[in-house]
Amino acid sequence: MSEKMLKFVDVIQQTPKKRKVEKRIDDFKEVYEEFINEKAKEQSSRCSQCGIPFCQTHCPLHNNIPDWLKLTAEGRLEEANELAHSTNNMPEICGRICPQDRLCEGNCVIEKSGHGTVTIGSVEKYITDTAWEKGWIKPIKIKKEIDLSIGIVGSGPAGLACAEELRKFGYQITIYDRYDRPGGLLIYGIPNFKLEKFVVERRTNFLKDCGIKFRQNIEIGKDKTFEELREKHDAILIATGVYKPREVNLPGSDLKNIFPAMEFLTASNRKGLGDSVKEFENGKLNADNKNVVVIGGGDTAMDCVRTAIRQNAKSVKCIYRRDKENMPGSAREVNNAEEEGIEFMWLSNLKKYIGSEKVSSLLIEKMKLGKPDSSGRKKPESLPNSTFQIKADIVIKALGFIPEDLPALFKEKKLLVSSWGTIKTNMKSMETNIPGVFAAGDIVRGASLVVWAIKDGRDAAVSIQKYLETKQLKKIKVA
Ligand SMILES: Cc1cc2nc3c(=O)[nH]c(=O)nc-3n(C[C@H](O)[C@H](O)[C@H](O)COP(=O)(O)OP(=O)(O)OC[C@H]3O[C@@H](n4cnc5c(N)ncnc54)[C@H](O)[C@@H]3O)c2cc1C
Ligand code: SF4
Repeated sequence: MSEKMLKFVDVIQQTPKKRKVEKRIDDFKEVYEEFINEKAKEQSSRCSQCGIPFCQTHCPLHNNIPDWLKLTAEGRLEEANELAHSTNNMPEICGRICPQDRLCEGNCVIEKSGHGTVTIGSVEKYITDTAWEKGWIKPIKIKKEIDLSIGIVGSGPAGLACAEELRKFGYQITIYDRYDRPGGLLIYGIPNFKLEKFVVERRTNFLKDCGIKFRQNIEIGKDKTFEELREKHDAILIATGVYKPREVNLPGSDLKNIFPAMEFLTASNRKGLGDSVKEFENGKLNADNKNVVVIGGGDTAMDCVRTAIRQNAKSVKCIYRRDKENMPGSAREVNNAEEEGIEFMWLSNLKKYIGSEKVSSLLIEKMKLGKPDSSGRKKPESLPNSTFQIKADIVIKALGFIPEDLPALFKEKKLLVSSWGTIKTNMKSMETNIPGVFAAGDIVRGASLVVWAIKDGRDAAVSIQKYLETKQLKKIKVA
């Protein structure tokens, strides 16, 4: 290791707050690449090739992890990249944002034996980032254009993965989205410090180069009817995600400066993308120098607290009804947030927003954990006479998301949905009860993960291809 490299490693090890590390990394740009190369090789060669790849079975895409680790350790990166892409449409994105501690890495045999996991996600990111840099990722070459079209509603990971897989066959694909940019939650939900926006844009530009058409600012059900879409296309995929914020109605809910998580995160992401965002610039959706309180314990709550701290909030508190062990979010994300100075108030429940016109404080009560409920999780119960107040200039509600009423929005009453509002599909074929209409991603599963959305999109593509082939054969027979 060179002297500068040793200094760089020293900085990484000594600086506890990631924010600061990110800043200091800029001082070491030249050695950073060399360091990452060495790290990726070192990590890849730690894989014991154990023959019982729990990592692979616990990856929703069943990525061929041991093989691409072996190729990376041997310096055969181009082959590793091909292998990574054979099961995943966006490995560089999954490598960055999958909760690996709950999926591949959490099931690594080396981790289980107490020696620390192979950092699979980082290697996956490294392989694909290198492939982009070296120009190994090239637009799909279509052997024969097929005169059949698929309309996809939603350009999140489910819609994008399905589009790419179908385009490989030569079908004509149009993706409709109500946002002005493609990517769904990859672009406007997940913050830039977890997933840099150029990474998403690089992917969507690549899909454009593959011949997939993107129609932005078109809301199906408003700007175009679902019926029009069905008339225009030979098959449809609904991949609209879930966006309606879950609410709890409490006294003071109508006070100003109480925002749903997506409003706060979208403003921050738009700003990061270079948009002019009035409500950020006038301070409304900007945490700078404010006491911020985030309600909720999932990954969205972690994204909100970590965004607020990056906006130089005066203080950031996270309120959650259960304890740390029972938080729904990824343990890694909670640890990151703690390391960055966020104050967690476990076993705390919001009772009331207080203020005149604007929120100024919150009434909180302490909780204890009782017996497990029907889901098996311990139920939080109030502790008598335990209320207290905390200061709040901004409150961000991150209590989860539920689906919009799609049958009403699409004016398609026949479309079957579950009691939760998610679209009912045949889980093998991803087809809805309407022939030729398929669905994938969060709108089927409820709020989930990017990697599952990709899996659904790929599965739906296989079924749509089969459906169109059968349709074509029938046409030929009739003729
Ligand atoms: C703040 C936040 C952070 C997250 N962090 C992570 C993470 O770190 N790791 C992880 O794996 N997952 C994370 N997730 C979850 C992940 O983003 C989702 O599971 C995933 O994006 C779902 O993909 P999707 O394609 O089903 O839907 P989405 O990504 O939601 O995309 C749906 C698209 O459909 C469009 N749309 C909706 N209705 C219409 C309509 N009527 N007409 C036209 N277009 C429409 C929307 O504009 C959107 O672009 C996070 C989610 C949130 C909210
Ligand atoms: S896609 Fe996600 S779960 Fe699968 S190997 Fe990559 S990081 Fe792990």
